[in-house]
Amino acid sequence: MESLLVGALDIGGTKIAASVADVTGPLARVSQATIKTGTPRAVPEQAIALLKQACDKAGIDFNRLQTVGVGSCGPFVANVGMIELATPNICGGLGHRTDLPNDWTVIPLERVLRERFQHVVIENDCVTALMAERTFGAVQDAANCVYVTWSTGIGFGLCVDGNVLRGKHGNAGHAGHMLLNPESAAECGCGNRGDLESLISGRNLSNAHGIPAPELFQSARDGEPAARAIVVEAARWLGRALYNLTITLDTSVFVVGGSVWLHHGDWLGPIVMQEVESRLQALTKGVSIVPAGLANFVADIGAFSLAMPPAWIAEWRKSAPWQAFHS
Ligand SMILES: [Zn+2]
Repeated sequence: MESLLVGALDIGGTKIAASVADVTGPLARVSQATIKTGTPRAVPEQAIALLKQACDKAGIDFNRLQTVGVGSCGPFVANVGMIELATPNICGGLGHRTDLPNDWTVIPLERVLRERFQHVVIENDCVTALMAERTFGAVQDAANCVYVTWSTGIGFGLCVDGNVLRGKHGNAGHAGHMLLNPESAAECGCGNRGDLESLISGRNLSNAHGIPAPELFQSARDGEPAARAIVVEAARWLGRALYNLTITLDTSVFVVGGSVWLHHGDWLGPIVMQEVESRLQALTKGVSIVPAGLANFVADIGAFSLAMPPAWIAEWRKSAPWQAFHS
């Protein structure tokens, strides 16, 4: 009998990555800029084509691939039980962005994938990252933990009492859009003013201050006063958001990924935690913050972990095959 294959899709507003794996680990990976023209089927059709390319690259018959895990940017909406994407960064018909060359309001992601594959599991990208970190990363088997990404956007994956929270349409964890300061002029791609993402995301800080986010954060680290004030305030807003989540969920540990944290978590961590620990200590004492363990592999490995057979987990925990895997 031929060995089982699992596909993984990482669908973002900027790019789509497709990988294929067997029990020994990932075999091939390809990626491409996310298509934004044509019909609303264009994105899932591009994803299927990329999975075929990944199979071709690995020398595998594409017809053998019937199981796919998908981590996707949200928000999701449901249409007769099927997940569709209503993503402001891809769908031009939602009216939040003027630079998108389409009038899509939803993308029929699950329906198109199910036309081709027998088994399809779709989760939002932060739930996917949480699964990766709980299965193979920094918080293995943690019962009460929260994944946080601080990057171009802000997102969360929530686990309470060992249960990964999904919500009615799989959108649990979209707390990047929690409202913190509606008096603020800071604007988010979702249309909100003063939500967490508007106040701290790389994209929104860059737009607000007219400087690329990596430069802003590096200047802040170097001690340039104006940049430092902006970034420290952003870290405080994140800390206030983590405080709100701590008291809401009674969580134990935050595992933080994303490019901002990867490069600056070392000095921003204490600023963030000060905002958590300085309040209501019956609930906040002992809460910790740790960097994500899978770094750049979190999306791919998370998508695999959504769909892989349980027997693969022990194998992959032993061999950590992503460490040897390069696209
Ligand atoms: Zn928002």
